[in-house]
Amino acid sequence: MDINLKEKFAALYHKDPDAIYFTPGRVNLIGEHIDYNGGLVMPCAITLGTWVAIAPNHDNKFRFKSLNFEIETVVESNVLTDKNGGIWANYPIGVINEFIKDGKEFSGIDFLFYGNIPIGSGLSSSASIEIATAYALNSYFNLGYDKLALVKIAKNVENKFIGLNSGIMDQFAVAFGEKNKAIVLDCETLKYKMVDVYLGNYVLVIINTNKPRELADSKYNERVAECQTALQQLNQEIRLDYLCELNAEKFALHNHLITDKVILNRATHVVKENDRVHLAAKALNSGNLEEFGRLMYASHESLKTLYEVSGKELDTIVDFCKDYQAVIGARMTGAGFGGCAIALLEKGYEEDFAKRLTAYYTDRIGYPATIYVSEIGDGPHLITDTYQ
Ligand code: ADP
Ligand code: MG
Repeated sequence: MDINLKEKFAALYHKDPDAIYFTPGRVNLIGEHIDYNGGLVMPCAITLGTWVAIAPNHDNKFRFKSLNFEIETVVESNVLTDKNGGIWANYPIGVINEFIKDGKEFSGIDFLFYGNIPIGSGLSSSASIEIATAYALNSYFNLGYDKLALVKIAKNVENKFIGLNSGIMDQFAVAFGEKNKAIVLDCETLKYKMVDVYLGNYVLVIINTNKPRELADSKYNERVAECQTALQQLNQEIRLDYLCELNAEKFALHNHLITDKVILNRATHVVKENDRVHLAAKALNSGNLEEFGRLMYASHESLKTLYEVSGKELDTIVDFCKDYQAVIGARMTGAGFGGCAIALLEKGYEEDFAKRLTAYYTDRIGYPATIYVSEIGDGPHLITDTYQ
């Protein structure tokens, strides 16, 4: 942690915290825009994340403070609380509401959050603060939920309390992530496999375009609709629930049914991206990071040209990576139109890469990108040594 949360807690609440918990953010390594087509995603937890320090109080109030936001919120500890404007505390409040609805009772608690995930950049600081709250309360009070139950609670909060209609990947990845492992997840069935990722001589670099993802929501809905159209047209000849039931070979037998070029491009991305996830899992299993890197570049190219969800900022980063020898793979990650790209970079080049990319990007885009060197980190856990 880059700050002393115990000291900050003591300064704000005039007592020590009882426990501090960490929950990571996440990136999706490959498998983009196919979760809603019955495809596989491959997210992993990152070492950036959210810490929460807690201690009980004696006045039956929940007090929410965050080092990332100035607004503090206080609510009664055992009543359901309405959503309150745009305040950040809605995330922990939403989680606590779910516990209360499920019959749990709490005495008062003082909370202090701190996150080093760039907020609103597609690395899931929201899922991180949701799972941080759920995991901390579940552990501290022995509430008895398993991880999947916490994931479903957090997703409910995001969908119904916050009002964002997102899938389950973020909460799942943040809760189930493990150090040096990726999760190969079917977001429909929730079947998953953990795959070892030996980065060896490479590091995972996350590059934030610092571009607001303005278009993401409307374009996201447009892509979902386009995939539905492709599915309907294919279903004149075969019976499919999802596009990803076809691999590229089978798709080639039926794709003449898709008459519109744009719709054909969208479906082609979906089918081939899902194949790439299978190939990527194989590459990781055999320790072939170079192959994994090639698949990352292919994924980006497809998202750029066939699915058209990239953009000048993300493309500028990936173009730079292609020409930078110590990078073996790079792609946009997340919904696109901004947010973040990821790259696999040979160790030892971190500083040079950051310096050159910053100059290259700023020159073309007009403002700098932010570069984070990360590892594939642990899932939620108690931080034991900060409050001994
Ligand atoms: P992201 O892509 O980071 O998930 P979202 O807009 O979905 O972006 O969620 C960001 C919101 O989550 C913030 O505006 C804030 O309300 C809440 N949040 C995330 N991290 C923290 C934190 N450390 N402290 C307080 N609120 C946080
Ligand atoms: Mg979010």
